[in-house]
Parts: sequence; C-alpha cells; structure tokens
Amino acid sequence: MDIEEFRRFGHAVIDWVADYRGQTRLGELPVMARVAPGGVKRELPVGPPPQPEPFEAVLQDLTRIILPACTHSQDPRFFGYFPSVSSLAAVLGDYVATGLAQLGINWQASPALTELEDVTISWLRQMLGLSAAWSGAFQDTATTGTLVALLSARERATSYGASRGGLQESARPLVVYASSQSHESVGKAVRLAGIGSNNLRLVPVDDRYAMRTDVLEEMIRTDRARGLQPCAVVATTGSAETTALDPVADIAAITCAQGLWLHVDAAMAGSAMILPECRWMWAGVEKADSIVFNPHKWLGASFDCSVYWVRDAEHLLRVMSANSSYLHTRSDSRVKSYRDWGIPLSRPHRAVKVWFLVREQGVSGLQARIRRDIGHAQWLAEQVDATSGWRRMAPSPLQTVCVRHEPPGLNESALDTHTLAWVCRINESGRAYLTPARLDGRWMVRIAFGSEATEHHHVAALWSLMRDEASWHH
Ligand SMILES: *Cc1c(COP(=O)(O)O)cnc(C)c1O
Repeated sequence: MDIEEFRRFGHAVIDWVADYRGQTRLGELPVMARVAPGGVKRELPVGPPPQPEPFEAVLQDLTRIILPACTHSQDPRFFGYFPSVSSLAAVLGDYVATGLAQLGINWQASPALTELEDVTISWLRQMLGLSAAWSGAFQDTATTGTLVALLSARERATSYGASRGGLQESARPLVVYASSQSHESVGKAVRLAGIGSNNLRLVPVDDRYAMRTDVLEEMIRTDRARGLQPCAVVATTGSAETTALDPVADIAAITCAQGLWLHVDAAMAGSAMILPECRWMWAGVEKADSIVFNPHKWLGASFDCSVYWVRDAEHLLRVMSANSSYLHTRSDSRVKSYRDWGIPLSRPHRAVKVWFLVREQGVSGLQARIRRDIGHAQWLAEQVDATSGWRRMAPSPLQTVCVRHEPPGLNESALDTHTLAWVCRINESGRAYLTPARLDGRWMVRIAFGSEATEHHHVAALWSLMRDEASWHH
C-alpha cells in the first residue's frame, strides 16, 4: 500500500467505522450477534491468500462477514458483562498510536511514549483522588496487574527468593486471601505465581457480598498456627458479579498489622473514583500496596488499557527488571524504563488514546457520564424494588443491578429455568443484551450500565422489555 492508497483507504476506513458507530449509537443493529458457532469461519478461506488482493475486497468482507458476527458492546441497549467503552476520541488515539508505531522498549527508543505514559498515568491518579505516593504503568489487563501484584507480594514475603531457589527452597507455603466474590483472575494469578490453588483462601462474604474481615483475621491466625506464611490479601472494590465493595480500610488495618501485601482490584469500579462522592467506596486505599484499574472498561479508553499502581516502585523494579544492573541505570538516569514496570519488555503506545480521551472529554465530561450511568442503575433499582414479583439480589452502589423475576409457585430450580429463559428471549430479540450470572448457586440477571450512548429512554425501554419477556408465559 503506498501513501496515496493509504490516504484513500484510510478515509474509507474512518467512514466505515463512523457509519458503524452511528448505527450502534442509534441502536439499529440487533445487539447480540446472530451467528451460529462456526458461521464466521465458514465464510473465510482456510489458508492465506497466495496473491495480493484488492483492498476493496477486504473492506467488503468486513461488512459482509465480520459485522454480522459482532455483538455490539457500544450499542445503547448493551447491558451485558461490564461496560467496555471505546470513546471516539480514544479510537482516534489508537489509530494514531498505530500510525506512529513507536518502539516501546526504553526511553530513547521513544521519549514521547515514555513521557506521555508518565503524564497520563499521573493524570489518571489525580482523577481518582490518589495521593502522589502512587506511581504506575499501563498493563494490558487487570489479570496481568493482579499477577504482577502477587509476584511482588511473593518476592517481598520471600526476601526476593526468585533470585535464589524460588518457591522451591521455601519451607513455609505462602497463602493468599481474597473474598469468595473475587474475580477469577485472582485464582489464575495465584496459580501462575506458583503459590498454588490450595493456598488461596476464599474468605466468606456478608449479606452485601463484602469480605468478612473477622473471618479473614481468623483464617490468617489459623494459617500461621499451621506453619504457613500468610502473604497477601486481594480486596475488591466493585466485584465482577454484583459490584460488591470489600471494606478496604478494615482489611488494610489487618494487612498493615500483619505485614501482608494488600492489592486492591478496582478494575471496573476504579472509573467511579473520578467522582468524589464515590471515594468512600474504597476508603483506606492509601494503605494498600498496589491497585489495578481498567480505563478500558467504564472510563472509555478502549481495550486494552489497564493501570497498575504501586506505592513502592523500587520494589516493583527489583522484581520486574530483567537486568540486575537496574539499580545503577535507575539511580543515574532521570528517565523511566517501563520495561521494568511489568512483564513485557516492549509496550504499545497506550497513552495516546488516554490523552485524547481525557483532553476531549475533560474530567467534567467523564464525571457527567459516570454520574449519569449510576443514575440509570438507581432508577432501575427503584423500579425493581417497587414492583411485586421482582427482587434485587444485591446492593447496587454503582452501575450494575442484579435482579430476579420471581413468579409465585416456582421452586428454586424452576426459577433458574425461568430466569435463563427470559434473559435468553431478550438477547435473542436483538433489542437488548443482558448477562445471566450465578449468585449463591442460583441464576440471576445482571444489568450493567455504562454504554456511552445509553440514555434514560433506553433504560425505560429495557425495563418494559424485561417485564414483558419475564411475564411471557404466565
Ligand atoms: C473485569 C475485571 C477483572 C478482569 O479484567 P481483565 O482486564 O479482563 O483481566 C478483574 N477484576 C474485576 C473486579 C473486574 O471487573
């Protein structure tokens, strides 16, 4: 492709994406993809094209094959999983980052990449109301951030055992604690960090699905008595299922007293911390050792963009540096080498999309949208609470409402069938997209707000659709 072709097709691609975003913004396509498994693969050649193809043909297939097989997470009627907002300014930032194609391996290879990351990470920190004691770096996902946290906790607990015999020379197994509502990424990180699933304690939760710190303390005491070495606690601010809030301050009191690492998983809910009125939700966070937050979820930064913050950057560098000479390079240089702030040695230019997003929206624009979404959830929660036959399954402090429709006379297993049936009817209708989830072993439905284009009338239409579909065969 020469530059003139690039210019021509580039305009065509922007037009294509603009048309697509226009359609999803207006809610013109069925929200859930209407393809059977294998439907996309059947349309694509098994092998790569031996000869060059006209670029027009690629764009045509984009419309013919790819588009119909997309579930539209930017549609105002998308209420599934969690918000995965890709603001248009961030989309342009991503194009630019790819166009600039910087080599993110050290400062010199791209001073712009390193220093823009420095600045945007600091902007995000300030936006969330965190003190200047925190420093951090972009990561791909929260799963990686949590893995880095547990690796760092492991290394602190073993006095940098990885540079000797690793866990294999340790006589006292390390133990990690997280609530039974913690994200599956915690269990994965425990396995990958070599700590082992048997050494992950899932602490029970209270009736708000928040970690019970009395049980946490008891578990730590028991583990110590058994000769194990308690190592880290993962507190969740905004659990994946119900957006439950672990009591960070109470947990921090325990981790500080016991010398354990405290990692706060605020992957989704971190975005709400740009609102001063939400910061009580993670009160005590300043006493944590690490935080993970995904601007690619609710904030609008486009996948992938996660932030990992730590209080002790020296420790992180010591754990993550591939090169043991990090100490001199760090002390005599005035620049960051982000390869020492996480697992990959090279990195994409994620800061551009964050920079575009925050400048284009301003903090006030982002705050207004997050407030609006919390308002949507509050409105729906009020309707559910006021309507007989409907039940809210958990508190709704943020943008997610967990519900069940409970017609009289159904036992638990019939209720499960009913729940899955009505959510399935809604998803297949193409008029909205919701996700069912298990809570305490039973099925319920999560309605997660956050799509940029969702306005009140979409929420009202959803509530009406929910009532219609749930009462369908009664
Ligand atoms: C989404 C989410 C994660 C996982 O995030 P990834 O970036 O997909 O790894 C972890 N914890 C919570 C609370 C989440 O909401």
